[in-house]
Amino acid sequence: MSRLATATVHLGALRANLQRIRLLAAGSKVMAVVKADGYGHGLERVARALAGADAYGVASIADGQRLRAAGHRQRIVVLSGIDAAGDLPEVRRLALDVVVHHRAQIEMIRADADPRPLRVWLKIDTGMHRLGLPPGQVASAVANLRALPNVDSTLIWMSHFASSDAVDATATVAQLAEFDALTATQQSTRSIANSAAIVAHPATRLDWVRAGGLLYGLAVVDARTGSDFGFYPAMSLTSKLISIQRIGKGETVGYGGTWCCPEDMDVGVVAIGYGDGYPRSVPSGTPVLIAGRPAPIIGRVSMDLLSVDLRQHADVAMGAPVLLWGPDLPVERIAAAAGTISYELSCGVTRRVMVVEDDHAASAAKES
Ligand SMILES: *Cc1c(COP(=O)(O)O)cnc(C)c1O
Repeated sequence: MSRLATATVHLGALRANLQRIRLLAAGSKVMAVVKADGYGHGLERVARALAGADAYGVASIADGQRLRAAGHRQRIVVLSGIDAAGDLPEVRRLALDVVVHHRAQIEMIRADADPRPLRVWLKIDTGMHRLGLPPGQVASAVANLRALPNVDSTLIWMSHFASSDAVDATATVAQLAEFDALTATQQSTRSIANSAAIVAHPATRLDWVRAGGLLYGLAVVDARTGSDFGFYPAMSLTSKLISIQRIGKGETVGYGGTWCCPEDMDVGVVAIGYGDGYPRSVPSGTPVLIAGRPAPIIGRVSMDLLSVDLRQHADVAMGAPVLLWGPDLPVERIAAAAGTISYELSCGVTRRVMVVEDDHAASAAKES
């Protein structure tokens, strides 16, 4: 059997979502964050659809290599910066921008003999307490960087929010105030907004916004979907029904026999499972769509297969297409059932899933 699990990436949705961000953040440059293989949609594919962005944000130099190999000439920002002095020759060869979030990175740059000016984004910790210079180290770090002849003089200031997706804005307001206090007098280029901040906190947009989830139409604010803000889901995950069997009343379905048939009924089997990235943790009752109508999953999701209750689908035949998530079945809904977030599901689609591209306009993608 060939694999039937297919992820369709809607290029028109990616393009429309970038346009929507440009409209919302009209005064800002846009960094398209494409780490984790474009949030699971495919790095090169996503970068091609988002070629109108002012920069790409990546997690590793290896992603920078792939983007340069694909011919992209925009700025590429390595969001964690360099790990070792030995990274610098490749960073320079590829003309990547680097984030500096730690004093140790400044020493690596100081020790580098290459005189070409490196473009640096200086990351300050304003409350996330993950990567970033503590506020008390900022002045000396800036003085050190400005004294280095191999660092571009236009430092870009950045920070990252811990809770911009939360309904309670207290933490975000405090982080923005801290960022302002440290940077407002610097007359410099600044960036703090991620996707949630772009939609929920307009004052954070500043000179550069850094958009990830929104580009893919993912939910970025608690209890809302991407479409609530006018963004289009960029992925549909589909497969097919490969079996329909009549199972008797009182019989159980799947591993562990966790679901018991309340009557004689048709049970369908869909060719997709956790080996494809569909979460095993969803409970019975989580919907899939067959011919546009919901059918509940019954029993445990297994590696290659999952079972569905076909009592409301008397007309359906083997081979029928099944939607696991997409424009008509928000991935947020499945993520909530699995106890996670949509980002983890889109990043988790595995290599054996066939990926196809759909190049229709976003509105058409939404209707299809
Ligand atoms: C991943 C990331 C982003 C994008 O975050 P979203 O919430 O997906 O928009 C922005 N900035 C940094 C530093 C990141 O690591």
